[in-house]
Amino acid sequence: MKTNVYERRLPIRLAPCADELLSSWIARHAAFYATSPLAMLQHCLPDLRSLRAADLNLTEDQVVRIAHIFSIEPDTVRGMTFSDIPQSSRRMIASEPRQSCSSCRRAADGMPVILRSQFFGWRITCPLCGGTLRTTGGRDGPALFGGYHHAALMGEEMLDNEAEHGIQNWVSPSEIARLLLMRRVPTSLPAYEPSGYRVLGVIIPDLDEVMQTEVSKLPSPASPILPMCLRPALLAGVAIVQHAGPEMLRMLSGHMMGENKARFDSAIEDILDCSHQSLGSSQLHLIWGSRPLESQIKCQMGKQPPQSHG
Ligand SMILES: [Zn+2]
Repeated sequence: MKTNVYERRLPIRLAPCADELLSSWIARHAAFYATSPLAMLQHCLPDLRSLRAADLNLTEDQVVRIAHIFSIEPDTVRGMTFSDIPQSSRRMIASEPRQSCSSCRRAADGMPVILRSQFFGWRITCPLCGGTLRTTGGRDGPALFGGYHHAALMGEEMLDNEAEHGIQNWVSPSEIARLLLMRRVPTSLPAYEPSGYRVLGVIIPDLDEVMQTEVSKLPSPASPILPMCLRPALLAGVAIVQHAGPEMLRMLSGHMMGENKARFDSAIEDILDCSHQSLGSSQLHLIWGSRPLESQIKCQMGKQPPQSHG
């Protein structure tokens, strides 16, 4: 795709803000030039139907074209999109901003600035200032899983490293998140509300209790973006499984039964096959595999007991 004389550079370019999403930057230009955001995008890329499409996937040619018209480096344009985020992490990118940082919330040139991290289902802290993120336009209520804060931060970092830098340990952290949100039929309870239980509840027992009143807030493995009040539980679960190694997945399976267990076993089989090659995982396996689950969790959480909710 070559640029031609009709694709003139914009006479004035607004500086992008740190972590700003491409569509936000284009929308600010649209306001400046008194046109619509889509018209501004299509001035560069006539074939693109939506700003969301530009945020998610841009080819190298498309990046170069936008960079040319806005007189900016292609790497800067690319870095404003989700283009480099691997498929495994993409199901944790929301379709709209879910959270924001009260310290970093701001506008530029009279227009609101939307950040990439506002869409990330694994974030609980602001990547710019480290502050706690809050649900956009909603109430977060009391923190339910404060006792897991340290592990949750570790899980956040693991998921972020996978999404932003392609770094995995013995298994993809976002795959663990998917596994942990699978339904679980508890072996211990004769009567149960099946939709209220997830695999994650084995690792974070507080979750089972919370879910009795918050079932509607549980997302599915296909769309694992939790509300901010529940997110630390999932992040902590990811960190605990990552550190424990493959044996933890087998232990989780032992807490399930019937069809439910068969589905889970089948889901972890592929993951375990892939992890056999990893030297790091076998070392972790030796360290963690001989301890009971409760002691692994306690060790992971440090000396701090889980905070009660209510
Ligand atoms: Zn911030």
